[in-house]
Amino acid sequence: MSIPYLPHRFSPAELDAMRARYRAERERRIRPDGAGQYRRAAGEFGYYATDPYTERTERAPVHDRVEAVVIGGGFGGLVTGARLRQAGVQELRMIDEAGDFGGTWYWNRYPGLHCDVEATVYMPLLEEVGYVPKWRYAPGEEIRRHAVAIAEHFSLYDDALFHTRVTELRWDDDAAEWTVRTDRGDEFRSRYVVISSGTLTQPKLPGIPGIEDYRGHTFHTSRWDYGYTGGDQEGGLHKLADKKVGVVGTGATAIQIVPHLARDAEHLYVFQRTPSSVDVRDNRPTDPAWAASLRPGWQQERMENFLTIVTGGHADEDLIDDGWTATARLQRKLLTGSLDTNLSDEEREYLDEVADFRKMDQIRARVDQIVEDPAVAELLKPWYRYMCKRPTFSDHYLQAFNRPDVTLVDTADTGGITRMTETGVVVGETEYEVDCVIFATGFEVGISGVLSGTLPVHGRGGLPLLGHWRNGPRTLHGFYSHGFPNLFHLGSIQNAASVNFVHVLQEQATHIGAVVAEANKRGALRVEPTPEAEEAWAATIRETAPDNFKFQSECTPGYYNGEGKPRPVSFSYGPGPVAFHELLRGWRTEGGMDEVLVTA
Ligand code: NDP
Repeated sequence: MSIPYLPHRFSPAELDAMRARYRAERERRIRPDGAGQYRRAAGEFGYYATDPYTERTERAPVHDRVEAVVIGGGFGGLVTGARLRQAGVQELRMIDEAGDFGGTWYWNRYPGLHCDVEATVYMPLLEEVGYVPKWRYAPGEEIRRHAVAIAEHFSLYDDALFHTRVTELRWDDDAAEWTVRTDRGDEFRSRYVVISSGTLTQPKLPGIPGIEDYRGHTFHTSRWDYGYTGGDQEGGLHKLADKKVGVVGTGATAIQIVPHLARDAEHLYVFQRTPSSVDVRDNRPTDPAWAASLRPGWQQERMENFLTIVTGGHADEDLIDDGWTATARLQRKLLTGSLDTNLSDEEREYLDEVADFRKMDQIRARVDQIVEDPAVAELLKPWYRYMCKRPTFSDHYLQAFNRPDVTLVDTADTGGITRMTETGVVVGETEYEVDCVIFATGFEVGISGVLSGTLPVHGRGGLPLLGHWRNGPRTLHGFYSHGFPNLFHLGSIQNAASVNFVHVLQEQATHIGAVVAEANKRGALRVEPTPEAEEAWAATIRETAPDNFKFQSECTPGYYNGEGKPRPVSFSYGPGPVAFHELLRGWRTEGGMDEVLVTA
């Protein structure tokens, strides 16, 4: 999109001024305690660990044997379950801590919940299940129901264990199978184990002094308390009509809940530390004529088209044409993808920076167009580069600040909320009395229970996986490690990601399904890479991983950059997901299986 009032090229002085402003805004928000500023949702706040949607029922421990276990019932686990079924796996056990399938869409049910990646490319296995999304950007409930539909379609409820946490995996080399132990006393055997336990699963709370003293009502957005607010995911929070409500946080979640709270609460206080970039949403119902015109293979085509464009590749046509496909160059700053190889590093950096400034100027101009009070508009403008924070999209969020019953409280200069009292929230010297505080404060970032240590894995000879990975993950293609046979990881270890993460997970699941099918066909004893294959992949990652350290170091703090302290090395495959998926396909057809299938 062209921005008429900006010069096409920035002068050096303009670039310097912008950089200085970004630095100053970053300095205002950096906290010496970094990621240590948060606290776990435990102890007094331990009710976050309970499931408000499904009653936990007692059951006898399981002591049996299955062919494959998938840990995690979100989309990663579901697509793997589907591919394993297609690979002929009969005895398949899905396990999740939640009371049903859906992962993030099970836990998050807040009003306004939508996915901001287009439903036709985000919701997996649409053609297999025979479903066309009703909206361009699907509401959470539609997505959750689709997760359940996948589980039903592929018979994934058979043998599933819900409200169950795997506490240990131990390899038995003689039997060539895993012993799986859980917090429900289960102890069973499985030939294969797939770990797909998600990345943003544990709600986190700000470590605000006095948070325990507050006597009003509180909850985290991922455990929405409709008993207190009334209404449902579509809004209508009628019980808030006589309540003063505070929301802490202005990330992608808050952007979606604020319009509902603004409409329904007596008064809403939005406690903001860093404003999000909020772009146009433009949601609309799916055109039935378009849906009827779809031909087999349509979803894969759209997914590939989207992935190619957002990772900097060329496609003749942009089938999705939205806020993500328009910002591919900017996403490359955080994620992997193709580079303009005809440019020098300096030229590329200059073009990236200019494109970034133009985009963010457009985002800031949109705030001025929508928000009537210039002082409030000023506070809502983000001053950082586009991918420093998760970009957001809404046609209702900024508008909420034009209401007389909504107050924006900026907390940038105090590093967030100063403290909480029995009756309210204090910022600087000012106390805001509220009946309820809703924490839209996000999630702990962990690649999986394996890396956080909550799921101990012992391979051949009792070797702990975290010991094997003490200098960073060691895998072939991110899937498996030497000494840990028949164990697959799904997620973002030593591979390539995209904003449409479910697509990436689906390619991983397809690969795992193909490897298991081939292992069974050949009667392989184990699936296990050699140390040499593992080392060669580690070298590929080292050589190609993008160097985002400078970009991340200059970003405003957030969970993308360890709250201002980014890791110096990245563990992703530099050429990006399109190239990675091609590499996997080539590996499968060109004898790669011989590398990991141990038959004698
Ligand atoms: P985030 O971690 O993105 O945001 C947390 C918010 O809480 C930030 O605004 C943060 O401010 C604020 N905060 C934390 N501590 C304090 C404090 N002490 N005082 C004041 N403010 C504070 O969490 P979200 O739940 O919004 O989003 C998490 C992720 O979930 C997203 O990044 C995205 O990946 C995913 N998501 C995806 C959606 C989709 O449509 N696909 C929709 C919603 C979420 P600060 O920025 O200054 O740290």
